[in-house]
Amino acid sequence: MESELNNLKQKILGDLEKIKDLPALRALEIKYLGRKGELTKILRGVADLAEEEKKTAGRLANELKKEITARLEQAKIELANIRSQAYADPTLPGSEVKTGQLHPITILQNEIEDLFTSLGFMVLDGPELESDYYNFTALNIPPYHPARDMQDTFYVDLTPPAPLLKGGLRGVIPSSLLMRTQTSPMQIRAMKKYGAPLRCIVPGRCFRSEATDVRHEHTFYQLEGLMIDQGINFSHLKGVLEVLGKKLFGPDTKLRMRPKFYPFVEPGSNGEYSCFLCRGQGCRVCKNTGWLEIVGCGLVHPGVLKAGGIDPSKYQGFAFGYGLDRLAMLKYNINDIRLFHGGDLKFLKQF
Ligand SMILES: [Zn+2]
Repeated sequence: MESELNNLKQKILGDLEKIKDLPALRALEIKYLGRKGELTKILRGVADLAEEEKKTAGRLANELKKEITARLEQAKIELANIRSQAYADPTLPGSEVKTGQLHPITILQNEIEDLFTSLGFMVLDGPELESDYYNFTALNIPPYHPARDMQDTFYVDLTPPAPLLKGGLRGVIPSSLLMRTQTSPMQIRAMKKYGAPLRCIVPGRCFRSEATDVRHEHTFYQLEGLMIDQGINFSHLKGVLEVLGKKLFGPDTKLRMRPKFYPFVEPGSNGEYSCFLCRGQGCRVCKNTGWLEIVGCGLVHPGVLKAGGIDPSKYQGFAFGYGLDRLAMLKYNINDIRLFHGGDLKFLKQF
């Protein structure tokens, strides 16, 4: 019996060597392991053997069946591989690998970050969910201040509703949380963490409860700048803004500054750049004024320095803030702010 099995094994392996394709392999499988296969017959025959022979023969026959099955499986895999290689056509066009690209706001943000890091500014990131204190109160905007009206936002209701004030206005509980309306809260956080002297910019996402249209969006990006040191004055601010204007809009760009109120600076100013499209002659983009209102800025209010733990009698500072969406709209001639968050690939692929 043992030699019979051995002979069969050699025969099967010899046959297997000659197999070149999957149908032939299938035929071989049926020939030996099929219902009427040679090995199957031997396995059946074991039942008729004498008791002591049955044990050894049964074991050997089963081992052989196992081994042959494994070999056949292995051969199947190898033949399938050969087959798939044979069908690969290297002249067919390859499948396109789709690559992503940077969002226009990110491109602009990177450009400005490069400039400011070369001037020794740190780039900081801050929380989008901010406390009322950092977003408003610490920046000289107490709960009763009318400037809050212009920056209505999304409040996160973790506390009971604030009490109604006289005239039906709802007061704000100082500990309540909100989606930040500006990147300026990071001025206070940066001052508290790093002290003076300090140079940093803070690009980031901001939120306001706005009815959206081509110029307004509930989610937008700002880039904040802050410099604090001894003897800082308006000319330092002007110098930095001029450098940025030239970097963004070309070396001929001029800057003019006009007074404007912001609660967290004193004096406050609006920085306007000469229109890069018409070079100051007047066009649709600059509403025929020749100037583009781009940056809000000023010298840091002493109250804000104090809130950041810095002594205003020793240190002064300037701060400025850009709307990155507005900058990108001007730079790339985009006429609807809502396109930035629309997720339309036809729009995004142009940059
Ligand atoms: Zn113009």
